[in-house]
Amino acid sequence: MLFPTTIAGSLPKPEWLAEPNKLWAPWKSSGDELLRAKRDATLLAVKVQEDAGVDIVTEGEQARQHFVHGFLEKVEGIDFAHKVEMGIRNDRYKAMVPQVVAPLRLKGRVHAFEAQAARAHTRNKLKFTLPGPMTIIDTISDSYYGDRVKMAFAFAELLNQEALALQADGVDVVQFDEPAFNVYMVEAADWGIKALERAAQGLTCTTAVHICYGYGINANTVWKETLGVEWRQYEQIFPAIDASPIQQVAIECRNSRVPLELLGLLKGKVVQAGVIDVASDVVETPEDVAATIEAVMKFVPKANIVATTNCGMAPMHRDIAEAKLRALGAGAKLARKRFA
Ligand code: ZN
Repeated sequence: MLFPTTIAGSLPKPEWLAEPNKLWAPWKSSGDELLRAKRDATLLAVKVQEDAGVDIVTEGEQARQHFVHGFLEKVEGIDFAHKVEMGIRNDRYKAMVPQVVAPLRLKGRVHAFEAQAARAHTRNKLKFTLPGPMTIIDTISDSYYGDRVKMAFAFAELLNQEALALQADGVDVVQFDEPAFNVYMVEAADWGIKALERAAQGLTCTTAVHICYGYGINANTVWKETLGVEWRQYEQIFPAIDASPIQQVAIECRNSRVPLELLGLLKGKVVQAGVIDVASDVVETPEDVAATIEAVMKFVPKANIVATTNCGMAPMHRDIAEAKLRALGAGAKLARKRFA
């Protein structure tokens, strides 16, 4: 089937699970009640995607508070009690971050609960997202390794353990989110992609990397204004990604200033093309979606195009996010009819 659909990863959380419309939203309950709420929200996220015509569903990232720290919570060697201020993404924003203080080790499984809950309740293909090593080390302070690259590879090993376990849970696609790749282009091409390959080592399921210009939050919108008329950052890293065994690349295409001709640098890859803008509350029409797919088809063979959202939808209003999912499903269907 042409243009199978998926989402970047996250969906908004219901207001009974966490405070709506924000990142890092506090949970509304705790203990067993929170666990049940996370499970219920996961099933709902799967159902909403199925109903909208999303072929490769995710668990909506309903069981984690943040896409990086959801992983870090299960890692030994991190001091969460003494956070320090750090500039993130080359100082685009400041955040209080935990510190690595000892050798890193997994305390156990990280995402077994929600992966298995989602797997048990859908026959669709299931995609699961993990933060990439370079993005993790850009979100945590180091008081132990004394070397960013060494710390990234230490995280890559842990990610690999969890990724292999997710595959055993029945996950069909493991996607690593690396928004740091278009901020540190030289390092990404130099060692970031190698760290990613370490994280994906031994996987036989589909592997993907999502690079992006971020959620529609203010700090990102302000940063994007500084990037010029055309966003050509990918020109520096696509050749290295194309040479890697990672199979799919997920990037934003809708309302994006990324020149789509850069997709031509990804000759051997399946492109998860973002056809839904998550930085705008304007809901795309199916025509809009089909038009973006058509634009991508100029540079990517149509058999290699997956239609997705530009980025995660975590901070959006639920009704808008769901309307956008329906547009995604309907738009891909229209494109199939038109471009078959
Ligand atoms: Zn993203």
